[in-house]
Amino acid sequence: MIDTSVFQGKTAAYFTLGCKLNFSETSTFGRMLQDMGVRNAAEGEKADICLINTCSVTEVADHKCRQAINRMVRQHPGAFVVVTGCYAQLEAETISKIDGVDLVLGANEKASLIQYLSDAWTQLQSDSETASDGESLHRHYSVKTKDIKTFAPSCSRGNRTRFFLKVQDGCDYFCTYCTIPYARGFSRNPSISSLVEQARQAAAEGGKEIVLTGVNIGDFGATTHESFLDLVKALDGVEEIKRFRISSLEPDLMSDDLIEYCSRSRAFMPHFHIPLQSGSDAVLKLMHRRYDSALFAHKIELIKKYMPDAFIGVDVMVGTRGETPEYFEETYEFLKRLDVTHLHVFPYSERPGTAALRIPYVVSDKDKKLRSKRLIELSDEKTQAFYSRYIGQEAEVLFEKSTRGRAMHGFTRNYVRVELPAAKSSDDLDNQLVMVGLGGFNHDKTALMCEILDR
Ligand code: SF4
Repeated sequence: MIDTSVFQGKTAAYFTLGCKLNFSETSTFGRMLQDMGVRNAAEGEKADICLINTCSVTEVADHKCRQAINRMVRQHPGAFVVVTGCYAQLEAETISKIDGVDLVLGANEKASLIQYLSDAWTQLQSDSETASDGESLHRHYSVKTKDIKTFAPSCSRGNRTRFFLKVQDGCDYFCTYCTIPYARGFSRNPSISSLVEQARQAAAEGGKEIVLTGVNIGDFGATTHESFLDLVKALDGVEEIKRFRISSLEPDLMSDDLIEYCSRSRAFMPHFHIPLQSGSDAVLKLMHRRYDSALFAHKIELIKKYMPDAFIGVDVMVGTRGETPEYFEETYEFLKRLDVTHLHVFPYSERPGTAALRIPYVVSDKDKKLRSKRLIELSDEKTQAFYSRYIGQEAEVLFEKSTRGRAMHGFTRNYVRVELPAAKSSDDLDNQLVMVGLGGFNHDKTALMCEILDR
């Protein structure tokens, strides 16, 4: 039982690091606390509760998490400080010793965050009436990776217009460079019917677009013996939602049937995000990825055959252990030939405990930077060539909330970002699907300028 009376009239501050999944989960925690009478602390106001949702994708991320925790403790003296997320799962005990930290919750405990928070806070308050006034609790709970079984459901509006629906968590792949399976546990998912219900709820709250998020979404069904394609078909039937996007799909789990279905679906957009990581088969083997470059090229060809206008974003990791200059050139040439739209380039970062550390060949930081720069330039060329194809055309755009007096932005069905000048923007357009005429690039080439056609 949760004693909601202890939360009434309290304030909370949140800080999230990492991926869309983390942002979506933080937002859900925020909503749960709100339902219990906690309001968000205003800018500069001291909060009673601080929640930090951490990431551990690189060593830099770990460092940023520690900085964020220390900053929150400084900015909100006396607040009850809770830390959760991937870094909390991997380093629960270490984090719990940081000055000011009360409660650290790993991946399994996150699903019961409110219960843990309520129990610990009640105890802290009764302690403060006795001896240890002003002391932090420094308590931590986390289980071993293999014992992470719970699924914390989450469907929440991001900062802008779209909703993020968490359809899956964890991963069974154990790629050699990655710690995510250790931090989030094995693959698991809720039922299709519960996700359809959450999509309906998002529509009832005014949602028009939902992004499906997860760690390894294509593995959906590991828990419930359903398939990702079945999920896509079921969500496509939620007519109140006008657009669905899939945040990322492993190429080996992106079935040809799924691609074909998306091309004729009602609401799944011609927009894909696929992690390649390397275009060199030798490097893919070192990474223990489950596909080769030929399979990846086949998926791209198939998407383009069914959806010639599809936007395709590709993750690429540069400077992994074992990536010789020759292997990098293979990746570069492969990507140059590939009909994709945008490259998300990540420099490899060493992670303690990963199998990649056993690969002897190490790429220098200088080479990592040079390789990243070349791929970012290639990406810019590809994105601009893709955008240029739509100059002078008409498109349906979903506009996003903007600050009053500033330009508004939105996305076409195939994820071309558009900009409406400040003079023409209006609150009425927020979260509206509108037909626009597309003009040339905006000042920093991050969007196409547009004008409204049908209002
Ligand atoms: S598929 Fe590989 S890179 Fe992605 S989360 Fe799983 S182990 Fe990490």
